[in-house]
Amino acid sequence: MNVSMRVFLLACFFSLIALACVKWSSLQAAEPQPRVLMLTESKGFVHAPVKRTEGELAPSEVAMRQLSLDSGAFTLELSQDASTAITKENLKRFDVVLFYTTGKLPIKDDEMNYFVNVWLKQPKHGFIGIHSATDTLKDDPRYVELVGGSFNGHPWTQNTKVAMTVHEPSHPTVAAFGKALLMPEEIYQYSQFVPENVRVLMSLDMSGSDVKRPYHVPVAWVRSWGEGRIFYNNMGHRPDTWTNKQFLDSVLSSIRWTAGLTDGPTAPNPELSAAQQEKAKKDCAAVGITDATVAAEAAAKAKAREEQNAKKQQDKKQDKKADPAK
Ligand SMILES: [Zn+2]
Repeated sequence: MNVSMRVFLLACFFSLIALACVKWSSLQAAEPQPRVLMLTESKGFVHAPVKRTEGELAPSEVAMRQLSLDSGAFTLELSQDASTAITKENLKRFDVVLFYTTGKLPIKDDEMNYFVNVWLKQPKHGFIGIHSATDTLKDDPRYVELVGGSFNGHPWTQNTKVAMTVHEPSHPTVAAFGKALLMPEEIYQYSQFVPENVRVLMSLDMSGSDVKRPYHVPVAWVRSWGEGRIFYNNMGHRPDTWTNKQFLDSVLSSIRWTAGLTDGPTAPNPELSAAQQEKAKKDCAAVGITDATVAAEAAAKAKAREEQNAKKQQDKKQDKKADPAK
């Protein structure tokens, strides 16, 4: 091979590499950025991470804004007004809606119908529920079915160390957590949770949790909704959860997953819930906790509360007697 031939081949080789680089960067640039609407309106309990102070965004909003800037993977709009956020017109501007809300949100009935039955059923549309999203719109069956359960107390209060098992560490939405995690968090138990409707990805591990209950407590799950996708994660009560890298990585991956950019199964896994139910029962029985001891504990607490109230009433009466002007 003569010199000019070698130079020609070398030139071809480098041209090909340059072409591949250009193609790759254009592919990178073409990666769609889901448009996320984050709603943090509280009509019930107001969590610290959603509290805005004068002129400042709430801690969870700051965290999400930073996540959007750092990753470049999604755009973000923040709202604390469901009445203007969840409308047919406004939803046109978004791919994923995230709720970290409480209570009876002021969404008009026809707008809610559109959101649940039309918008969310479209491909590449998604809903992410964080923490008290399940303590929201509890008397709207459309919403309860969508989010997957209804808040029914939290024996695991915010300083309780909870152990959680990740059943499917390969699922993009929870991959950031590895196989298990142990941290302080407020964890809910649910009414209206239907194992046949959802794919549970994380549950409480009673053997490692400070507070134990002899039943299954799911922590995170996914489901399909028409052609749309839903992800719910109970974590997020504590402000420091919003600076936890694993949690934020999971939020980022769940945005990409609910927007249809990655794959992960949604087929319901009720057999997993049944097995977890048995495991929780066994783990609790090992330390003497059963349905009967839990019921007795609840009854004792209720009685103590009653006695306390009765005492308060009596004290008030006596105060009045001593000073009739009160
Ligand atoms: Zn909470």
